[in-house]
Amino acid sequence: MSNKRGTLVLYTGSSGVGKGTLMERLLEADKSIKLSVSNTTRKPRQGEIDGVHYNFVTEDEFVDLINKDGYLEYAKYCENYYGTPKQQVYDLLDDGYNVFLEIEVQGGLQIMEKYPDILSIFILPPSMDSLERRLRRRGTEDEETIQKRLAKAEEEIQFKDRYKYNVVNGDLDVAVNEILDILHKEIESNK
Ligand code: 5GP
Repeated sequence: MSNKRGTLVLYTGSSGVGKGTLMERLLEADKSIKLSVSNTTRKPRQGEIDGVHYNFVTEDEFVDLINKDGYLEYAKYCENYYGTPKQQVYDLLDDGYNVFLEIEVQGGLQIMEKYPDILSIFILPPSMDSLERRLRRRGTEDEETIQKRLAKAEEEIQFKDRYKYNVVNGDLDVAVNEILDILHKEIESNK
């Protein structure tokens, strides 16, 4: 893409905060952005495509890559494993792409330890009520899972100040522009 190495971006937000939709808009708006595709042991939701949204793997396959030191980070979240395969991220950065890691807080903290200067963005809901409404409207989880994810969200939000930037996803267009401005400002200041 370009001769210059890309920027790695840590992108975290609780389940239901609208990160996925925001990410789709970012990918459309700026072709220098690529999303790292994670491995997960979670079952695919309706409409999710293997290799696009996630690489859906078995627990044995997941653990095998842990043993081969193949993850940049990984975490267990609500009973499933999620992890970022190293090689694809390094390849995309070498090709000059700005690579977003869409990961939860435990993985985010591991990444910050490895890369203390990483550009980190935490996406916040306008309120906890709106988060609950979005999770329910999505209709992809049962009640027990919704409750677990809401409890997890409360926990995760405690870590928001560890991230360099907090962006509230109230109005989608505003949030997209805010993230693009942050990215471009950081790239400029690292030139
Ligand atoms: P979901 O099941 O809703 O797709 O994802 C659950 C949580 O896992 C989300 O917060 C999502 O960002 C996070 N996640 C997705 N991929 C990874 C990954 O590779 N590593 C970590 N640590 N979290 C991930």
